[in-house]
Order: sequence, then structure tokens, then C-alpha cells
Amino acid sequence: MTKNQFALRRNLIHPAKRIVVKVGSGVLTGERYSSVSDDVVEEIAGQVAILVDKGKKVAIVSSGSVAIGSKTMDVARHGLSIPVQQAAAAVGQGSLITMWARHLGSKGLTVGQVLLTHDDLANRRRFLNARNTINSLFDFGVVPIINENDTVAVHEIKFGDNDTLSARVTNLVEADLLTILSDVEGLFTADPRLNKTAELIEMVEDVDDSICAMAGDSSSRTGLGGMSSKVNAAKEAARFGTPTIIIPGATKGSLLTALAGEKIGTFFFPNEDRMSSKKHWIEFTLTSQGTIRIDDGAKKAVLQNGKSLLASGIKSVKGNFESGEAVEVAGPDGSVFAKGLVNYHSFELNRIIGAHSSDIEKILGYKFYDEVMHRDDMVFFTGGQGRN
Ligand code: GLU
Repeated sequence: MTKNQFALRRNLIHPAKRIVVKVGSGVLTGERYSSVSDDVVEEIAGQVAILVDKGKKVAIVSSGSVAIGSKTMDVARHGLSIPVQQAAAAVGQGSLITMWARHLGSKGLTVGQVLLTHDDLANRRRFLNARNTINSLFDFGVVPIINENDTVAVHEIKFGDNDTLSARVTNLVEADLLTILSDVEGLFTADPRLNKTAELIEMVEDVDDSICAMAGDSSSRTGLGGMSSKVNAAKEAARFGTPTIIIPGATKGSLLTALAGEKIGTFFFPNEDRMSSKKHWIEFTLTSQGTIRIDDGAKKAVLQNGKSLLASGIKSVKGNFESGEAVEVAGPDGSVFAKGLVNYHSFELNRIIGAHSSDIEKILGYKFYDEVMHRDDMVFFTGGQGRN
């Protein structure tokens, strides 16, 4: 790694405010443990507490429910049928969250359990609901402890492994850093246990075929993911414009070392444009379900002042849509200039047309969000002069 690349890497890591910390079963169970080690959870919780104290918002993606559950049920951990794995997860998840709660609790922190399936995040409404929940947890200084909802996740709706889940969560919480705590030092040129000449790769500019091939050659010991799912997670995070660092989770203080920008593990640089993947998805993949026509003041606020769309600027609503669906936005003359994901159902919007955000709860009896459409969920069409 050249000096410049190292400085660049530090510049990306230092300011990171929202951090996803993925902790795999291999790290949590340690070398000698068949179940999750209390000492390991304590050690990682201690580092997370220091980060939170520095003002970072940390979401932990933690494996371990199947490891704990299978030990409690006295069944072999690997080779279990899906229902038995699910039963083990049901048994183990309670203990897993209790361990995190105890160790983060001893540092004055509260945890919130978030269990997700792939279906939850593929569905934009549920994706947004989960995002709102996690944002609220962050607002209250709570540390979300996220895992796959293994008890309901059968093959079709599974992430499959928590590396993939951590990449999706990176997008979900709009994290500016993904850290994967692994039972290996990072990505090697070959499997270091089989090949003595294998070297640690300190930095990856772009996850291309050669990197994927190396990941296929080197693996982590336990857990479902192995090295290729970690590299794929890094590739996915990079598309959201987020860097990833794979570090040895069992090494004491490794998370803080990585966050201090020191040399450790393998660092993956992000792609240039953080929002491009989402905006592309909104613009090209989603079909608009309706149109919101807004007044001139709201159009100016959105296009020129970088604001989100509020109910107060809405003049009319056309179409039947659910919250989380894509809707076009038109100015007073009816010409469409933007498209985005709406936070309210059309029947709700019809009731809050022109209302001040502080009155939404009075009118509907609840409020999801001040913004009817957050500008991060909007794309602007050519000529719209919007600031993306
Ligand atoms: N969700 C699984 C668990 O909690 C772990 C999946 C993985 O190891 O990637 O045991």
C-alpha cells in the first residue's frame, strides 16, 4: 500500500459516523468454544461502547444464534436440517441478544433486537419501515443488534449468510463504513493455512475477477459465509459508495485499531457515487404509481435549496399507491421533474395535503416521517436542475 493510498484510506475511515460491525460465528465462538464465548462478546462490546462514546452510530450484525441453540439442544452444529437449524436459532437468539445486552449494558448502553429476512429488504415499504426503526434506535442512542430472522427464513427469502446481510444493512442504515470481524486476518492471495507463501492483501481498489478468485481460494474457518461472501459484501457496499474493512475479530482491540485508520486487515475502497445504485434503482427499475403535484415554493425548496418534499407544498395527489412505492413529482404546471419513494400511502396523503408537518399526527393519528418524500429517495430529471 502506498503512502497516498494509506492516507486516502484513513480519510475515508476517520469521519465515518455510521458503522456496521458484522461479527461472525467464527469470531464469537473462538477457537475452543462450540458455543458463543462470553469473553469475545465482552471484548467487542467494550470497543463498540468506546465508538458510541465518540459519537459514532454503530449497528451490530451478529451471528451466533444457531451456535448457541445447537449447543443448548445438544445437536451437532453443522449438517442440521433446515427446521432443526431454525429451532436452534429460536433457542439461541434469546441468549445471544442477552449477552450483547449484558455487556453493552454494563457500559451504559441499551440494545434493540432487529431480525430481518431478505423479503423485508426487497420490499421497499418494509425496507423503509426497518430503516425508520433503526434510525429511531440511533436517535435514542440504542445499539441495534441485527440478525437474520432464521426461524422464518427458508431458502427463497434467506440472505443465506450474515456477510450478505451486513451489506444489505449497510445500505439500509446508509452506513459510511462496513467492518467485517472475521476469524482470519483479512483477504489473502491464497488460503494461508494451505499455502505458506500466501500474502495478506492490504487494500483492494476494485473487486474484480482476480480478487474474487483469491477469495475463492482463501476461506474463513467457521460460519456460513467464507471469504467469497465477505468479498461480495464488500463489492455490494462499494456500489453504495461505502468502504469495507475485513479485520481479525478475535484480535483484542482490532475494531478500534481499524477505526483509528491503522494498518490492519483488508480495506476495500468504495465506488465514487454513494447514491448511484439506489437512484438508478428508483429511476429505471421502479414503475411510477402516481403523481404528486406541488406548488412553486415547494418545487423551489426541493430543486434549489436541497430540501425534502413536505406535505405543506402538495396541491394534489393522483393514483393509488402504498408507502415505499415510486411516485412522480410535478410542478404547478403539471410537468414532471422528479420521481421518488413516497413515505405515505395515497389515502394518507390525500388527508394531509397542504398540512404542516407538525399537524400530520393530529390528522392521521400517527406520523411516520416529517418528509412525504426524502430527497435522498428522489431522482431529478434532466432540466430539473435538482441537486442529487
Ligand atoms: N444467522 C446465523 C446465526 O445467527 C448465522 C449465519 C452466518 O454464520 O453467516 O447463527
